[in-house]
Amino acid sequence: MRSVWCTIQTVSGDSQPRRRAPRILVTATTEVVRGRPRVRVNEAYTDALLAAGMTPLVLPPINPRAALQALDDADALLLTGGEDIDPKQFDQSPHEKTGEPHAARDACELALARAARDRRTPTFAICRGAQVMNVALGGTLVQDISSQRTTDINHDQSIRRTERVHDVVVDEGSLLSRVVGAADIRVNSSHHQSVDQVAPGLRVTATASDGIIEAVESTDPSWWMLAVQWHPEELLGTTEDWDRRLFEAFARAAGADRSA
Ligand code: MN
Repeated sequence: MRSVWCTIQTVSGDSQPRRRAPRILVTATTEVVRGRPRVRVNEAYTDALLAAGMTPLVLPPINPRAALQALDDADALLLTGGEDIDPKQFDQSPHEKTGEPHAARDACELALARAARDRRTPTFAICRGAQVMNVALGGTLVQDISSQRTTDINHDQSIRRTERVHDVVVDEGSLLSRVVGAADIRVNSSHHQSVDQVAPGLRVTATASDGIIEAVESTDPSWWMLAVQWHPEELLGTTEDWDRRLFEAFARAAGADRSA
């Protein structure tokens, strides 16, 4: 896998430039493991960043002000998958299938998503991350696909995380289309919620055949932001190149932003 490097001056003022990998702020959850609360993120995310030449900086769900300071020190943001967002964040009461919210994580990630938009920080948003981005910018979610939509696709296949289980049509002319280099791709699917009303400033760039939104991106070309409902980090071992290209493009965007 190719690495992406940028040139910066050393603190000591050496004329010899030093190279460092783009630093990516990676959001995480908390979970009680063996009786103790722990910070947790799937290693697939950090492995995928490392494989594309980026350095992962794992951020616990800390208070928004501290999280925004952490974003100051990062080149880009990765919003990871996880819990359902509290529906009160988009003015709905919880559906019976909606999971218990993680209030601290919601507050932290919603603030990061809005700040990333305001600062045009390159952002890759995956699964819950795509939903966080949409809600942060004023959109809503389908709280439970199987009970609120008519579909012949099972989108909730967590045990087949590394398998491509349904097709997705990618909008021609989108950033996503340029990155993956294909109009029809096949993806894994480990979600029971999805983007419903799309937030101002975002547009849909991929859908499944049942109409479920599988990707959104920024309408502002000066902000590199891709949000996908599937899990590209779990598909890097497959023969298809699409998901490796996503992380490689993210690395280029994160590197380009720093040198600007
Ligand atoms: Mn899906």
